[in-house]
Order: sequence, then structure tokens, then C-alpha cells
Amino acid sequence: MSSVRTKNTPREIAVPAGAELTVFRRGLLRWFEARKRALPWRGTRDPYRIWLSEVMLQQTRVAAVIPYYERFLRLFPTVGALARAPEHEVLEAWAGLGYYSRARNLQRAAREIVRRHGGQFPKTLEAALELPGVGRYTAAAVLSIAFGAPLAVLDGNVARVLARLAAVRDDLRQPARWRQLEAAAQGLLVPREPGAWNQAMMELGATVCTPRTPACGECPVVRFCRARAMGLQETLPAKREKRAPENVRLAAAVLLDAQRRTVLVKPEYDATDGLFSRMWQFPAVRCGKDAASALRRHLRDAQGIEAADCVALPQARHAVTYRRVTLLPFLVPVDALPTKRDGATVLPLEEVERWPTSSATRKIARSAMRGGEWEI
Ligand code: SF4
Repeated sequence: MSSVRTKNTPREIAVPAGAELTVFRRGLLRWFEARKRALPWRGTRDPYRIWLSEVMLQQTRVAAVIPYYERFLRLFPTVGALARAPEHEVLEAWAGLGYYSRARNLQRAAREIVRRHGGQFPKTLEAALELPGVGRYTAAAVLSIAFGAPLAVLDGNVARVLARLAAVRDDLRQPARWRQLEAAAQGLLVPREPGAWNQAMMELGATVCTPRTPACGECPVVRFCRARAMGLQETLPAKREKRAPENVRLAAAVLLDAQRRTVLVKPEYDATDGLFSRMWQFPAVRCGKDAASALRRHLRDAQGIEAADCVALPQARHAVTYRRVTLLPFLVPVDALPTKRDGATVLPLEEVERWPTSSATRKIARSAMRGGEWEI
């Protein structure tokens, strides 16, 4: 084992080196060739497809990504097609995957690629990192797999494998520790096969060296693993301290006219702190105990509406990272829907589900339709 040392770091990360490194690399690559999952983005060298898969896989499970990935490519088969598409079509294709900033950045980056790089994903790390939404991990994954660039990836899966191999006990996300892990990952990389190597490391973390119960009996590098030797494979890496959950109450207005049409808005000033992912939403505001009063005030200020009737609809639960949201929808019958503010768009209530919205908005729409035995 050799160690990789960075200035001001708490402890060294010991990874295989010399003759051990050769055996380690060979063992992992052979295992990957034999055991890798057949995934739709495997086997392609098309940087657009690799990039798309990496972006979709951030925060989302493989099984959930596959149908979205295939459909997205049918709709936008090239960088150029994605760049030309209207934003709402891209968001519609993304609807259900969540974290919509990924889709927006993807399209902004596609437009940059067309404008500045002739429609080709840039081949240098510096240029790739200038694209919206492309960080060190995504750039290294795309450039290594598509172009064979010798850049190691470090994501949560790879970090966990490294932490166990070297029995690292502290918080992996400390900046100094993360830099050490990047250096360790780079030291292990097989320069002639960086794409396969990176995928092998990620695959090991995703399928064998899993967070809760690593399958050490099936691990191709078990003999190099310090955590396993110490019986610490299930306790390392240390759990991150979780941010305390925050309870949020959100009052939302389902304005409804006599034709059962409602209005969605995209407010410039977001009174919900981004809980609707900056997508089309019902007029809404964070509130305290008296949700109806808060909503009336909000409708008066933001939409110029005096909401005489606010009929409470069934509540719904929603979670966004550390925030536990109680959605408090109200039916607000109106003679005329407001169309002049916050880019308001009018549509039948039943069509909200098909509109590019966040899942919170769809929950509110469902609540309005379920609780909908009302007279307008
Ligand atoms: Fe992970 Fe176990 Fe392999 Fe160590 S031996 S790398 S803990 S699967």
C-alpha cells in the first residue's frame, strides 16, 4: 500500500501501489467485464448519451432513469435537437425525475455546445467545466468514457469504496478529505483504459460495496480491503451528520372558474423558497397556523384577488431534502382568473398533471380533483 498525502489533511489514504496495484487493477477490470450490468448507456462512446445518463443518474436510481433516458433520446436524439427544443418540452420530458435544474442546465449546456463548440462536446477538462451544470465528476466521466481522457471519477460510490479499502473513519465530504480521495482515485486509474476503469469502480460501489451491507464475499478486491480486515465494512464510511428536518407549511390556491379552469404561475418572487423547483405552480405561500389568512393576503398582494371563499381541500405530504412539507390546498372559486401577473397560464384543472410541474403541484391538483364535489 502507498499513501497519498495532501497538505493540511488529517490522515493519509492508503491505496494499493506497485505490484499490488497491478493485481488490484487486473482483478477489478476482469470482474467488471464479467459482471457489469447491461445498461442502455453502456457500450456507447457518444459523449451526449454518456453525459445525459450521468446527469439523470445524479440523485436518481438506475431503474427509474432507464425509461426516461430512452424516451428523452427519442425526443432529443442529438445535442443539436436538445439545444433547439422549447424549454417546456424538455421539462415535460423530465417531469417525474425531479431536480429540474438538471434539465435546465442540460439544455443551457447543449446550447453552449452548439454555439461555442460546433455541436461537439468539448474534449478538454477546462472547456467541459465551463458548461452549465457540468462539475468535476460529470466532466471526468464523459471525457474518460467518450474520449479516453485519463481522469478519475469520484462520486459517492467510488468514495465509499476507497474509504473502505483504506479504512478511512472521518467525514468524506470535508473538502480536504475529498481532495485526498480524488488524488487516491487518480492514483488507481488505469491510464490506458480510464473509461472502463471508472465504470468498474462505480459498478463495484453500486452493486457489491453497497452502503449498508457490502457483499464482501463477492468482492474482487477483498484482499486489499482494510475495513473488511478490521470488520468495519458495515460501519465505514461514517454517516454524515444529517441536517435537522425542517417542517414547512405551504398554503396553495387552486383558483377555479365556472369552466373548471385554473391558473398556474411562475412567480418572479418565490414565496415558497423554491419548493416548486421554479416550475409552473399554483399561487402559494409559506404559512403558519392560519393558512387561509396567509393565502388570502398572498392572493391580494401577488394576484390582486380578494378571495372571499377559501375552501380547504385534503392536505398532502411532500418532502424536499431536509424539508417536510405539509401542502394545504384551498379551492378558491373566482369569476375571472387572473392572467396579468407572474406569467399566469390558464388551463383546465384536469390538465395540470400533464403540464411541466413539480410533483408538489401535481399533488395539489390531485387533491383538488379528489375533493372536488364543489359547486362553483
Ligand atoms: Fe467493499 Fe467489502 Fe470489497 Fe471492502 S471487501 S471494498 S467493504 S465489498
